[in-house]
Amino acid sequence: MKKTKSEILFDQAQGLMPGGVNSPVRAFKNINKNPIFFKSAKGSILLDEDDNEYIDFVGSWGPMILGHSNPIIVKALKKQLDYGVSYGAPTSLENQLATLIQDQFPTIEKIRMVNSGTEATMSCIRLARGYTGKNKIIKFTGCYHGHVDSLLVRAGSGVSTFGLPDSPGIPKDLAQLTHSCCYNDIEEVKSIANEIGNDLAAIIVEPVAGNMGFIPGDIDFLKTLRNLCNRNNALLIFDEVMSGFRVSLGGAQEIYNIKPDLTALGKVIGGGLPVGAFGGKEKIMNQLAPLGPIYQAGTLSGNSLAMSAGIALLSTLIKENPFQDLENASNHLLSSMKNMFKEKGMPFSSATMGGMFGFFFSSTLPKNYKEVSQTDENLFKKFFISALNHGIYFAPSKYESGFISTAHNQEILEIALEKLDLAIKEI
Ligand SMILES: *Cc1c(COP(=O)(O)O)cnc(C)c1O
Repeated sequence: MKKTKSEILFDQAQGLMPGGVNSPVRAFKNINKNPIFFKSAKGSILLDEDDNEYIDFVGSWGPMILGHSNPIIVKALKKQLDYGVSYGAPTSLENQLATLIQDQFPTIEKIRMVNSGTEATMSCIRLARGYTGKNKIIKFTGCYHGHVDSLLVRAGSGVSTFGLPDSPGIPKDLAQLTHSCCYNDIEEVKSIANEIGNDLAAIIVEPVAGNMGFIPGDIDFLKTLRNLCNRNNALLIFDEVMSGFRVSLGGAQEIYNIKPDLTALGKVIGGGLPVGAFGGKEKIMNQLAPLGPIYQAGTLSGNSLAMSAGIALLSTLIKENPFQDLENASNHLLSSMKNMFKEKGMPFSSATMGGMFGFFFSSTLPKNYKEVSQTDENLFKKFFISALNHGIYFAPSKYESGFISTAHNQEILEIALEKLDLAIKEI
C-alpha cells in the first residue's frame, strides 16, 4: 500500500529525533499507531499533511482556548514582527502581560516570565527551598509538573502513558527529597507531612489535576494542604500551568478560593508561543536575583513576540470571559457521549471545568491516579483510534485531559457528535 505523507515524514523523523518526536506523548507509541503530521490549523480544525481534517480537542494541550490561528493573535504577532522579536532587555510588553495576569491572580503580587511550564515549576521549587532554607517537597502521584528532576517522581501525563514510575538520570539523593502522596487523600498527606516535620519546604499540587486525565481536587483536600503548609512554615505551590486561564480567568485558585504562596503558569498565557511564568507573595519573590540571592534567569524570557501573543490572548479572554459557555459546550459533548456509550453497555464517566474536560472508561469518576490506572485502557485505545479514523482528534492517552475552544461552536459540536456516534458504534 502506498505510504501516506505522515508515514513518510515519520520514517524521516525517526532518523532525526528520538522516537521521531520532540515530546514523547506525540509519538502515539502507547496506542501502537504512527503519529499524524499536521501542516495547518484554523479555529477548531486541524489539517494533516495528507489533507485530512480533524476536529481538535487537544488545542496544543491547552493554549488554543480561542481556537487556532485566531485573527486577533495573528494580527498582534504580525505587528510585533516589524518591531523586532527579542531584545534581551526590558519592554513595556512585559509590564502589560504581567498586569493582565496579576489583575486576575491577586495572589501573584510579583511575577517572573520564563519560557515553559517546566521552567516555572522548577523555579518555584528552587525559590521555595531557598526561601525556607528547607529541602523536602511533597507532590502527588499522577500530578505532572514538567520534566523537572525533583518533580519527575510518580509524575502523570507521558510518564504514566509509558508506564515509567520515575526517570533514570535523577540522582537518588535528589529523588529522596520528594515524597509522593495519593491525590485527594487527606490522611496520607497529613501523615507524610508529620513524618517530614520541619524539613518540609513546599507542597506542590495541580489544584485540578489534568495529567492523569482530568480530576478536580476536593476542596477539603486543598484546604488541608493550605493548613499543613501554614503549620509547617512551608510554601503551598499551585501548579496552574494547565488550569490557569483555562478553568476560569483566575484559575482553580479563584474557583476554590484558596490562596497559594506561589503559582506556576504556562500554556494559555503564551497564546501558543513558548511562555511560562511564576509568581506569588512579594516578600518571597523578592528573594530572586537581582534583589535577592536566589538565582533564576532566561535569555529569551519575556521576549516581545511571546509577550504580544499572550497580551492579545489574555485581553480577549478577559473581555469575553467565555468560561461558562465553554463548560456548557463540554457538558453537551460529554453527556451526549455518555448516552452513546450507554447504548453500547460501556462504562463512561466524565468531568468538566471551564474549557477543560476529561472522560474515563469507568462507571464512577476516578479520584486519584490509582483509580485512573484501573479504568479500561483497551477500550480507551479502541475508542481513540475509531474517533481518529472519523476525524476527531482527542489526546492519545487516558492520562491526558481534553480541551475545548471558543471556536467549537454549536455547528462544529453537532458535526463532532455525528462523527462520534459512528465512531462509537464501530468499537
Ligand atoms: C504542561 C504542564 C507543565 C509543563 O509545561 P511545559 O511547558 O510542557 O514545560 C507543568 N505543569 C502542568 C500542570 C502542566 O500541565
